[in-house]
Amino acid sequence: MTDQFAVSAAPRPTVEVASSPHRFPVRRIYCVGRNYPEHAREMGMGDDRAPPFFFMKPADAVIASGSDVPCPPRTANLHHEIELVVALGAGGRSIPMDSALTRVFGYAVGNDLTRRDLQLAAKEQGRPWDTAKGFDHAAPITPIVPVARSGHPVKGRIWLEVNGTLKQQGDLADMIWSVPEIIAELSTWFGLEAGDLIFTGTPAGVGPLVAGDRVRGGVEGIGVLEHRVVAQ
Ligand code: MN
Repeated sequence: MTDQFAVSAAPRPTVEVASSPHRFPVRRIYCVGRNYPEHAREMGMGDDRAPPFFFMKPADAVIASGSDVPCPPRTANLHHEIELVVALGAGGRSIPMDSALTRVFGYAVGNDLTRRDLQLAAKEQGRPWDTAKGFDHAAPITPIVPVARSGHPVKGRIWLEVNGTLKQQGDLADMIWSVPEIIAELSTWFGLEAGDLIFTGTPAGVGPLVAGDRVRGGVEGIGVLEHRVVAQ
């Protein structure tokens, strides 16, 4: 088996499962582009119910809460985006909304780290977002809380502090697209599978991070994400 691959094979990225010896194997990371009215407005977009749009991060962008997150190169404007993350325990295609929640394994808190300067330039030039969203360590995440313990959160405070100062605050009840709606829509574009993570969008108050900053953010009933930002 050791000579099965032509080059060394990277291990599958995983995320801790809260109070469990088992880890969650990450297959794909999907992200919702705009899902809170206040944040849509601060980014210069409408806050209507235009269908959600999606982008992706590589699976190995996950980095555990408590880690030092290296500041990515070639940005002068790294931003935080605190988000509720859905972890799928099963998948499917064109999943009906009324059964979408049966696919959820659990929930976590994540930071959709963004090179905002590159994202704004990409939008202007009609270029892809990969360098803005899909860089190394771009997805700090807490342990996943299984649904049996978390339930399916539909309201609750979502917040983020930088160096102890509150920067982002909202409520899950303000999400433009609910978790079942996101899963149903996403599954019309992609075949979803166990191991997929979905970052569900961020509330208003996104802003810059620099090396030395301490980030702390959470979702009521799910967990608290903590990480530092350190020089490369
Ligand atoms: Mn985001």
